[in-house]
Amino acid sequence: MSSEKKQLAILGSTGSIGTQTLDIVKNNPDLFKVFLLSAHSNHILLFNQAKKFKPKHVVINTIDGYEFLKKNLNKKNTKVSFGISELSLLVTEKDINLVVNAIVGSAGLVPTIHAIKAKKNIALANKETLVVAGQLIMGLAKQYNVSILPIDSEHSAIFQCLVGEEKKHIQKLILTASGGPFLNIKKSDFKQITIKKALKHPNWDMGPKITIDSSTLMNKGLEVIEAYWLFNVSVENISVIIHPESIIHSLVEFCDGSTKAQMGVPEMTTPILYALGFPGRLPYKTDNLDLAKVKNLSFLKPDMKKFPHLKLAYNVLKIGGTAPCALNAANEVCVDAFLNGKIKFIDMVKIIEKSLENFIFVAQPKLDDYLQVDNETRRVVNNLISKS
Ligand code: NAD
Ligand code: MG
Repeated sequence: MSSEKKQLAILGSTGSIGTQTLDIVKNNPDLFKVFLLSAHSNHILLFNQAKKFKPKHVVINTIDGYEFLKKNLNKKNTKVSFGISELSLLVTEKDINLVVNAIVGSAGLVPTIHAIKAKKNIALANKETLVVAGQLIMGLAKQYNVSILPIDSEHSAIFQCLVGEEKKHIQKLILTASGGPFLNIKKSDFKQITIKKALKHPNWDMGPKITIDSSTLMNKGLEVIEAYWLFNVSVENISVIIHPESIIHSLVEFCDGSTKAQMGVPEMTTPILYALGFPGRLPYKTDNLDLAKVKNLSFLKPDMKKFPHLKLAYNVLKIGGTAPCALNAANEVCVDAFLNGKIKFIDMVKIIEKSLENFIFVAQPKLDDYLQVDNETRRVVNNLISKS
């Protein structure tokens, strides 16, 4: 019966996670229905998605895209809206059962807050939302009795390992990291890293921002902060281990010496499915893990001297308040500048470090504080980039 279908709002539907979520919807027409789709600028793909999935609403961030969609979509089926403010209103619509946040960057923060306040459960890929404002988001989730269901594979792994466990028995969270494309490259050769090389991840096929973050290990740093907020474990008890095969997606160590791991082939379908189907599991045709084929699983400690981004993330998490927000904004601007050929790979960390020497620190930030720090850091970093 159609009223029993879970109605989804998919934010960032044109991206890597968004399109994989829609594949799951396409293959499970009895379980899911699309209520809303949103994208930043790819209006052609959004148009094609809207024709196929017939959402009640689409939201786009560009004027051109807005005009195009208004002209070409049948408004009886799909209403077209513009920008993050309208998106933030639409995610509160009563028919939505689950908001899938697959936006990249801190742009995902405000719509998430509105969705939580409307008591919508969130399937969260958009880790930057928790990095920037984890304290606020988790506080609101508790207040409005909303579940934040992680899509990030490491956090989905931990989430799955924790089913049936008690918080007091958790000793340590261990996040695995592939190590990225430069794991075996000498630090002295980092000056020659090109955009093309940084965009070639050994195991995962993802959007450009997270792929660059994986190459610097900033992604793992952001994930340490994400894990801190999702699972409420002290920073000293969250560690990172390099696991180049990306088969173990993360581990939890318990007080009795038992360590649980969640495994699977490196693809995002499983964590997306888990978030969409929670608390159940959804059957799906994916590649199964064949350990005999994989043969060896290897592990090594991360080298924080070679990859200082990871160390920076631990540092800002220990400082707390608006420090992770400043780190995130600086990183977003630097990744964008690197992808646009404005700065070199090795410049990213130098500029981030410089910007963190002086930022507006608020210990117990409210939304306006986060937005101010995000804006101000972007201004400072853009300045540093233009002078570099
Ligand atoms: P992507 O670049 O492929 O897609 C991003 C989506 O967000 C697009 O639909 C884009 O239109 C939209 N978007 C971009 N800027 C926006 C803005 N300012 N306002 C509104 N929408 C905007 O990114 P992705 O790889 O799908 O990653 C999405 C999020 O999921 C990121 O936070 C990433 O860290 C996280 N994540 C991704 C993967 C993966 O395998 N791709 C894995 C784990 C976590
Ligand atoms: Mg991850």
